[in-house]
Amino acid sequence: MSRSKDRVDLVADVLVIGGGPAGCWAALSALEAGAKVVLAEKGYVGTSGATAAGNSSIIYTAPASQGRAKAIAARESRGLGLVDGSAVDRVLDEVYFQLDRLAVWGYGFPTIEDGSSYRGSMRGVDYLRFLRQKLIKGGATILDQSPATELLSSDGIVSGARGVRRIDGAPWQVRAGAVVIASGGCAFLSGAIGTRNLTGDGYLMAAEVGARMSGMDFSGQYGICPVGASVTKGIIYYWATFSDETGNVIAAKGDRQDIVASGLRNGRVYAILDKANERVQSGMRGQANIFMPFDRQGIDPFTQRFEVSLLYEGTVRGTGGLLIGNDTTTDIPGLYAAGDAASRESMAGATSGGGGPNSSWALATGVWAGAAATRFAQSLGPAHATRLVASVATKGNGRGSDIAAVQAGIQREILPLDRSFFRTGAQLDASAQALETSWADALAHQDGTDYPKARETLAMAATARWMVASSRQRSESRGIHRRTDLKQTDPAQTHRIASGGLDRVWAQPQAGTEQKAAQ
Ligand SMILES: Cc1cc2nc3c(=O)[nH]c(=O)nc-3n(C[C@H](O)[C@H](O)[C@H](O)COP(=O)(O)OP(=O)(O)OC[C@H]3O[C@@H](n4cnc5c(N)ncnc54)[C@H](O)[C@@H]3O)c2cc1C
Repeated sequence: MSRSKDRVDLVADVLVIGGGPAGCWAALSALEAGAKVVLAEKGYVGTSGATAAGNSSIIYTAPASQGRAKAIAARESRGLGLVDGSAVDRVLDEVYFQLDRLAVWGYGFPTIEDGSSYRGSMRGVDYLRFLRQKLIKGGATILDQSPATELLSSDGIVSGARGVRRIDGAPWQVRAGAVVIASGGCAFLSGAIGTRNLTGDGYLMAAEVGARMSGMDFSGQYGICPVGASVTKGIIYYWATFSDETGNVIAAKGDRQDIVASGLRNGRVYAILDKANERVQSGMRGQANIFMPFDRQGIDPFTQRFEVSLLYEGTVRGTGGLLIGNDTTTDIPGLYAAGDAASRESMAGATSGGGGPNSSWALATGVWAGAAATRFAQSLGPAHATRLVASVATKGNGRGSDIAAVQAGIQREILPLDRSFFRTGAQLDASAQALETSWADALAHQDGTDYPKARETLAMAATARWMVASSRQRSESRGIHRRTDLKQTDPAQTHRIASGGLDRVWAQPQAGTEQKAAQ
C-alpha cells in the first residue's frame, strides 16, 4: 500500500466491489484461486447490505435428489416462463457444495429436532461476519467505509476502480487485473431495511464502460412493513389476515403483497397474524428483527391488528441487474458481476427471488465471479499493474444546487404504488419524460461537493430510466411487472429485455431468450 497526498493506492489481481454474500464469496473464491484480493465496501463488511439485515433462507438440496427436482420445478413455475432450469440446478449444486464446506470450516448452522444441522437458513450477520473472518485469515485486504465511485479502464479493459473513504474523505485507488461488481440492487433510498447503501452504484459504474442490463422490467418489488417501521421481512405474513379500517377482510387475488396493495388503493390496511399456531409463533421469534417494531409499540401481532404498508425494494428482491454470461462475465473484458448486481432472471424469472433463490444466486455467482476474475487477471500477467489507466466516470459541471430535490424527483417516479406496483403505459411515458430531467439535474451535481452522494444520485437516475424503458417494452403483465392497462400475460412475451445507455437510454427484447415451456 502506498499513500500520496492522502490517497490510498493499492494493486490487486481482483478487486471486489461490495461486501454482502456475493462479494464475500467472490473474494474468497479469488483467494482460493491464488489471487491477491482487495474488497471495497461502502459500509462495513458484516453488517452492510440486504442479507446483514436479517435471516437468509437459502436453497440447500442434494444434487439429483427429490428436493432438488422440487426446487427446480418451483422456480420454473414461479418464474413464469423466464427461468432456466439447468441454470437453477447449477446454482444449487454450488450452494450445496459450499454450504457443506462452510460447516466444515466451523460455521454454526442451527440444529433441528432430529439433531441434524439445518442448512436452509442463516442469520445474516453471523454468516457475513464468519465470511469476513475467513477473508481476513486468507489475506484479503478489506476497505470498509470505502464506496467505489468509478471504474478505471485501460484500452477498454476494466483495470480497477477509485473511491472515497467515508471516514476522512480521502480518495482511494485500486489497480486490478479484474473487477467483480457485487454492490447489490437498488431500492432508491426507500427506507426498507438493509437497503440504505443499495443505490445502483455498480450498475452505473458498469454502464459507464458499456455493460448492459437485463430484467429491469421486473423491478416492481415491494415488501410488507408495519407502518412507521422499516422491517420488510415477509415471512410472518404467510399467517396473516388482512383487513381494512373497518375490520372487513380484504378479498383480493394474488399473493400477500397483491392483497395489501389492492387494499391500500382504498385506504388503510391492517394485518393480524392469527393463522400462526404456537409452534409457528415460537419459530418466528427466532428470526432477527421481525418483532422489533411490535415490541417497541407494545403490540402482540398474533392477537392485535396492526397497520401495514408496502416499502419499495426494487431490484433488491426484484430481478433485474447487469446482464451476465454463464461464468458471470459482463460484455466488458475484465468486468464480472455477482449477486443482486446481476440479473437473476435465469433463477427467479419474472417474480421476486426472496426466500431462497436470491441468496443461493449470490453465493453461487460470487464463487464463479471470483474464479473467473482470477483467471482473467492471471492471463494478463503482472504487467497489468503498470498499465495506463483512466477513470470513466460521467462528467458534470458541479453546478447543481439541491441534490435532495433531485433524489426526491427520482423517488417520485419510482416509489409510489401507482408507479412501480401498478404500471400503465401512460404513466410510464410520463415517468420516462420526468426522469430525463432528473438525469440532467443529477449530471449537474457531478464533480461538485459530496461526490459519493452525487454518484449515488446519478446511479439512481440511470437505474430508474432503465427500469422505465424496459417496462415500456413489456406490453403485458407478468410476475412483478403489473400493467393495469394490459392485465393479461402474453404467451409470446417470454423473452428477456435488455437495456442500457446513459445519455440515451435504450431497451429491447433479447433475441433467442424466449422459453419453450412458457406459462
Ligand atoms: C428484508 C430482506 C429479506 C431478505 N430475505 C431473503 C431470504 O430469506 N432469502 C433470499 O434468498 N433472499 C433474501 N433477500 C434478498 C437477499 O438479501 C439478497 O439477494 C442478497 O443480500 C444479495 O447479496 P449481494 O451480496 O448481492 O447484495 P447485498 O447483500 O445487498 O450486499 C451489497 C453490498 O454492496 C455494498 N455497496 C453498494 N454500493 C457500493 C459501492 N459503491 N462501493 C462499495 N460497496 C458498495 C453495500 O453496502 C452492501 O454491503 C432479502 C432481502 C431483504 C431486503
